[in-house]
Amino acid sequence: MTTHVWDYLPEYEKERADLLDAVETVFSSGQLVLGKSVRGFEEEFAAYLGVRHCTGVDNGTNAVKLALQARGIGPGDEVITVSNTAAPTVVAIEGAGAVPVFVDVHDSDFLMDTAQVEAAITPRTKAVLPVHLYGQCVDMAPLQALAARHSLALVEDCAQAHGARRQGRLAGTMGDAAAFSFYPTKVLGAYGDGGAVVTHDDDTDRALRQLRYYGMEKTYYVVRSPGHNSRLDEVQAEILRRKLTRLDSYVDGRRAVARRYQEGLGDLVSPDGLRLPVTSPGNDHVYYVYVVRHPRRDEIIERLKAHGIALNVSYPWPVHTMTGFAHLGYAPGSLPVTEAAAGEIFSLPMYPSLPEDVQDRVIATLRDVLGAL
Ligand SMILES: *Cc1c(COP(=O)(O)O)cnc(C)c1O
Repeated sequence: MTTHVWDYLPEYEKERADLLDAVETVFSSGQLVLGKSVRGFEEEFAAYLGVRHCTGVDNGTNAVKLALQARGIGPGDEVITVSNTAAPTVVAIEGAGAVPVFVDVHDSDFLMDTAQVEAAITPRTKAVLPVHLYGQCVDMAPLQALAARHSLALVEDCAQAHGARRQGRLAGTMGDAAAFSFYPTKVLGAYGDGGAVVTHDDDTDRALRQLRYYGMEKTYYVVRSPGHNSRLDEVQAEILRRKLTRLDSYVDGRRAVARRYQEGLGDLVSPDGLRLPVTSPGNDHVYYVYVVRHPRRDEIIERLKAHGIALNVSYPWPVHTMTGFAHLGYAPGSLPVTEAAAGEIFSLPMYPSLPEDVQDRVIATLRDVLGAL
């Protein structure tokens, strides 16, 4: 039997009746686009986070793009972010017409090294886009101070951080706007694509509602260009409403899996061998992925695969080294911490309904493989 890094079917088994009822609710509602379920989800997600506004959109990539555009960022503007992220973060910056500028990450938690941001600011810099990667938050206090000092927009990429907190504050509440993805694998996942942008600011929210709806304020009349069709689907919104009520229990489930890995593997940790995830001080980690590190990563993955254990790498190629981003002009070696990590990290299976016996098999097999290296 092959194990999966992620699998939604055990969850579907458990939640089937509720999820199918969500579909039925929308199909029988008489309104299939931007109806009660999208509005309801927007209100409930805003309330969960404690923000004034939430606008549902079609996916996380467009959530990042529209968040930037709603803050007035466009062609010629520079946006400072990291290369150690899911490529869509950077795709979205370019989608808004802006230019991504990269800083390196910390070797400990793989998150944005905020001390490098100030030196990356130029007269064209308009925004900083921290990515709360793997399920924990970037240190926001220095970025908030810097954004205020240089009049920059602060836009959070929360696609991997639903429910994560820093110093008690939820991811998505610490910037001018924040983008979420509800791609099925995410901590709050739909059964298809979905996304949202949240903000405390009334004007930003108004712009977002126009941007996702062809640039229209009301039907058939465009007030803003370029507009998009980036609506959150009504069925996905109703599914997300149901799943939002269980978000805290999904996070608890992920933390239980993380604890079991720590208990089963913690004694093997060494500075030049296996390294397990490090939670930075002040963070409450939600473990979107469980990223470990070992200098002999590729051999370990091969051997585990031979034992029927599939692993993932998030992410094998730093964005700035991809041919599709060669035009940005980053030479190999320009982001050394990011590049070194990409060659050594791998992700163990992680999802709230991961069966304990499967997890124990992963732990036992990894122990054997490491012992035989
Ligand atoms: C998943 C993800 C996105 C993109 O979300 P989609 O819904 O797949 O478009 C953006 N940023 C990060 C960090 C992600 O993990």
